[in-house]
Amino acid sequence: MLRIALQSKGRLNEKSVELLREAGISIGENNRRLLSRSPNFPVEVLYLRDDDIPQTVSCGIADLGIVGLNEVEERGHPVDILQHLGFGKCRLSLAIPAYIGYTGPGFFEGRKVATSYPRILKAYFEEKNIRCEIREIAGSVEISPSIGLADGIFDIVSSGGTLVQNGLAEVEKVMDSDAVLIGTPGLDGEKMQTVRTLMSRFTSVLRSRGKKYMLVNVPNDRIDEALEIIPSMKSPTLLPLADKGWSAIHAVIDESEVWDMADRLKAIGAEDILVLSMEKLII
Ligand code: ATP
Ligand code: MG
Repeated sequence: MLRIALQSKGRLNEKSVELLREAGISIGENNRRLLSRSPNFPVEVLYLRDDDIPQTVSCGIADLGIVGLNEVEERGHPVDILQHLGFGKCRLSLAIPAYIGYTGPGFFEGRKVATSYPRILKAYFEEKNIRCEIREIAGSVEISPSIGLADGIFDIVSSGGTLVQNGLAEVEKVMDSDAVLIGTPGLDGEKMQTVRTLMSRFTSVLRSRGKKYMLVNVPNDRIDEALEIIPSMKSPTLLPLADKGWSAIHAVIDESEVWDMADRLKAIGAEDILVLSMEKLII
């Protein structure tokens, strides 16, 4: 039985639960139970604050965890990063009041920066050989400059809207983050086997996101041109139609390419373009 730690509430909770469900792993509805066992996969879910997930996995109380890479780096507990999961994307950046002219990282020499990520920031300044006073605070980091607590901040940024609202400008990106699957270093063989099954299911789920299945009828003498327009994972499926002189091409494509591709296919005489949503892509 594997134990996986998920955030109990917050930005990563819903997407983590959704990923497990899409991977065919049923878990109870009630997140308030701290520990809940899946009825159809040898896994139990432990719900925790995200701060506690790296340590819980590092020491083996949970075998796996889903948590932001930022949190993994900040806590510094040894864990294996097994898979990037592509959600919870954000970055950790330095920001200063927007009215101040920025001169480069040397700006921070002898200044004060407020953050909830002192460890990552310390490593960044050490690497750059900059002496900066780091003021650790737990929340509302972005108001620190306006109340005189610090000259700048180091915090999570996604759209940048919060910075702008607080009169701040992002000046250095220090790291990118997304949710990652982490594991206890040196899991035994039997557990690793289940972990591999889980990871390959996650890969299938992540690959099918943003994908569509397209069917298009093409005159036989335009097939080569059509195949140049349709990129394909391996080789697209080509089927003869009952109507001689025509074939159907089936392919998996990116959702973002649907309209452009359809226009180009129509321009070479393609007809009956059917775009379907894709449930799973298991490779
Ligand atoms: P907890 O109560 O579990 O300690 P928290 O308040 O520390 O939660 P959340 O705000 O829920 O944390 O954020 C969890 C993670 O989601 C962050 O560590 C980061 O990886 C990611 N994240 C945070 N803010 C954003 C954002 N604006 N956009 C995308 N991802 C984000
Ligand atoms: Mg937290």
